[in-house]
Formats: sequence, C-alpha cells, structure tokens
Amino acid sequence: MHEMALAEEVRRIVEEVALAQSSRRVASVVLEIGELAAVEVDALRFCLDLALHGGAAEGASLEFVSEPGEGICPHCGARGPLHARLDPCARCAGYGVRPVAGTAMRVKAVEVA
Ligand SMILES: [Zn+2]
Repeated sequence: MHEMALAEEVRRIVEEVALAQSSRRVASVVLEIGELAAVEVDALRFCLDLALHGGAAEGASLEFVSEPGEGICPHCGARGPLHARLDPCARCAGYGVRPVAGTAMRVKAVEVA
C-alpha cells in the first residue's frame, strides 16, 4: 500500500505551506488524484487521518478531485483518454499506450486558517 507514503508526503507539503504563510492551522486541502495513479481514495483518506494527526492540518477538510488519464499510442500516435494502464488504443486497438496524464497524485490547493 503506497497510500501511507503519499499521506506522509501530503503532510510534508501542507506543513511547509502553513509555515511559509506563518499559519499554524490548515483549513482545507485539495488533492488531485490521477485516474492512472492507482490510488485508493478510501485508503488514502484513512492514511491521511493518521498522517495529519497532531499537525497543522489535523481536522482540515479534505477534497479529492480526479484528473482524467490520457495516453499516446506508440502505433498510430493517437492521443486520447486512457482509463486503465493496460487499455488498448481507442483508435487502432493496439496495446502499449503510454500514459501521459493522470498518472500522479498532487496537492492542488492548501488553504490556511
Ligand atoms: Zn493507436
């Protein structure tokens, strides 16, 4: 489960933002999760509960937004939506589509109190 590592990373980032803005409390955090990032939102939420405990973002409202996956086909060059890493190309049905978007999770916004 890599959600715990992601949650620790989120904590590091939001603590930095709070510090940079001379705030000790974070009100809300928006996380963008790529469709191809293989992140279980429920697991991430659980891990964030643990990781943020005792820190500036304890009790902050958490919002999860999804970033659509996108890929480029190595056979026909088509760029289009990719909902799973092993899906074939929508145009030529070839396999090996290279993911180019929606592969990561990132902290999109942090609002300090
Ligand atoms: Zn193709």
